[in-house]
Amino acid sequence: MSRDMKFEFSTARRIVFGPGVAGQIPDLVAGLGKRAFLVLGGTPERFHSIVDQIASRGVASESFSIRGEPTTVAVQKAVLAARQTAAEVVVAIGGGSVLDTGKAVAALLTNEGALSDYLEVVGKGLPLRDAAAPCIAVPTTAGTGAEVTYNAVLSVPEQHVKVSIRSPLMLPRYAVVDPLLTHSMPPALTASTGLDALTQLIEAFVSNKANPLTDGVCREGLMRAGRSLRRAFEEGGDAEARENMSLASLFSGIALANAKLGAVHGFAGPLGGTTDAPHGVICGKLLPYVMQANVQALQTRAPDSLALARFDEIGRILTGTSAAAASDAVSWIEALCTVLGLPGLRRYGLREDDFPAGVEKARRASSMKGNPIELRDDELLHILRQAID
Ligand code: NAD
Repeated sequence: MSRDMKFEFSTARRIVFGPGVAGQIPDLVAGLGKRAFLVLGGTPERFHSIVDQIASRGVASESFSIRGEPTTVAVQKAVLAARQTAAEVVVAIGGGSVLDTGKAVAALLTNEGALSDYLEVVGKGLPLRDAAAPCIAVPTTAGTGAEVTYNAVLSVPEQHVKVSIRSPLMLPRYAVVDPLLTHSMPPALTASTGLDALTQLIEAFVSNKANPLTDGVCREGLMRAGRSLRRAFEEGGDAEARENMSLASLFSGIALANAKLGAVHGFAGPLGGTTDAPHGVICGKLLPYVMQANVQALQTRAPDSLALARFDEIGRILTGTSAAAASDAVSWIEALCTVLGLPGLRRYGLREDDFPAGVEKARRASSMKGNPIELRDDELLHILRQAID
């Protein structure tokens, strides 16, 4: 079965990749404005020297530190601070949480009104009118690929859900991807963020919105993540493995922004809102079960689908065996998850009572639209039952 050959493709205006490229940040900032708003994570002191070098280029800057995944309240505070300093450029250096905060701030710097005016699902969902302020996104995890996506995921604690502000106008001006910044990730963070990237590559590759450009980056990203995630987890100083994971993460962001995702990410919003599980843990924990459910559903209800052939191809890429099939892809991911040792979601507060609402909210999530086949409620419930312990 062939796909409808009509697509659009967009990404950051410029991507700068390689060990040491973070050294270019001060000059890039200076080229964009005289007042910078820096969004940093829980340990902002790590980036003192970059902050000093930005100042030495004659750019005034204000720093904002975000701890944990961003809430709407935290982002509103950041927006207020950025508007008060009349920032011309936003620089976000950190994990996906920091990058998303920076992207949301950049959007609200040039678009009047409140954050809730633009939030999907729980807000008015209005489109942005003006291009976001120029944003330089510098990931320190590998990762979310958020340096090249046009949404920012924010949690709304009072409604127990995570939703996005989303617009092609939010694509960062520069994505500066320096694998050296990821070497400090401890093994558990390497595992969960790496599984997020792997999930995004797999979901975008089998998505019903995939296109030939995203297919290419997915194949390359899957090959690199397949051979490097375990190595980066076991030996954090392995520069080649870190480089491959930074590339896999970047490619996963390019793919998700242009091909959409699937049921893992359909669940990630609701589960991220009802539990305190990190996003990457939710993705990694669900991935093998969602793959299994999709493969079984496709085999019985759409045996001629292109997505099933894609799962076979994932099996071949990950195992390096030409005879591998979809079931081998599932087994390979299961074995990897065992090695990486992700805890069950019960540890983070998921309860069986949460399942019906989780399924219902996942059905309505935008990512679910990219899943290669519509999964039934009983199949979605079975996935949650497997991921809880
Ligand atoms: P994170 O940004 O939440 O960071 C997790 C922890 O890792 C934090 O404590 C942080 O301080 C620490 N950390 C970051 N880099 C480190 C490093 N190099 N060394 C040591 N510690 C480091 O984690 P994440 O997984 O990168 O981002 C998750 C967030 O991104 C979630 O909110 C998720 O919903 C969102 N996300 C967004 C997109 C998008 O396209 N916008 C895609 C996927 C995920």
